Amino acid sequence: MTRCHICTTCGAQFAPTDDPPQRCPICEDERQYVGWSGQQWITLDDLRQNHKNQLRDDLGLVGIGTQPSFAIGQRALLVHTAQGNLLWDCITLIDDETVGEVRKLGGIEAIAISHPHHYSSMVEWSRAFDAPVLLHDADRQWVMRADSCIEFWSGETKTLWDGMTLIRAGGHFEGGTVLHWPAGAEGRGALLTGDILQVAQDRRWVSFMYSFPNYIPLPAAEIERIASAVEPFEFDRIYGAWWDRNVASDAKNAVRRSAERYKRMINP
Ligand SMILES: [Zn+2]
Ligand SMILES: [Zn+2]
Repeated sequence: MTRCHICTTCGAQFAPTDDPPQRCPICEDERQYVGWSGQQWITLDDLRQNHKNQLRDDLGLVGIGTQPSFAIGQRALLVHTAQGNLLWDCITLIDDETVGEVRKLGGIEAIAISHPHHYSSMVEWSRAFDAPVLLHDADRQWVMRADSCIEFWSGETKTLWDGMTLIRAGGHFEGGTVLHWPAGAEGRGALLTGDILQVAQDRRWVSFMYSFPNYIPLPAAEIERIASAVEPFEFDRIYGAWWDRNVASDAKNAVRRSAERYKRMINP
């Protein structure tokens, strides 16, 4: 039977095939890893048997995450604006209950994703809400389930509605994207960054890595590129990739001082 298989380590859903794919290119890439028990696959139907999504407030935004944690364990964020909701980043599990709850909150106008580790079940989410998926063109090769719902954008920024902007920051991935939401943080502005700017355990700081699981740093030139990509935008808050991983305030200074500290450590 033809099914869309899902890699259990990165959560990416693949194009339909009879048998599971031989390998997951996202996990074989040096930024990820193949699970310690070898490459494993699951389907959405199987995942629904013992996982549920939780919708809850995360510093003023509705977060959507899976319990128990699956794959990378990120939570998506629903950015509410007058002209419709943007789903920032994506998760693998989608079920009727989640679709119903999100519809009650106004549905989804478009989905934007920071980088391939969060591509997850983006095509399923797109179909459930009839919403396009906006991905940076530079990471096109990491799309494992091609679909006409995916709209690639190129260049350094893409303007959305209600003043929102997608910014190519690069670093972790060439097309690594962050979202600027000017109405965020009570009008002081917010960045939604996935792990392109990774909120640190000390949440007054962020960091930047080529690979987080494999501890591969980025060169100074890339740190400068990321910092200068977000510098023109006003923001006081950063929403990271996981529940409560946020810089609540003074985030612009947090980026500046974090970039300086990083460069000092790799190139004293
Ligand atoms: Zn994978
Ligand atoms: Zn990542």
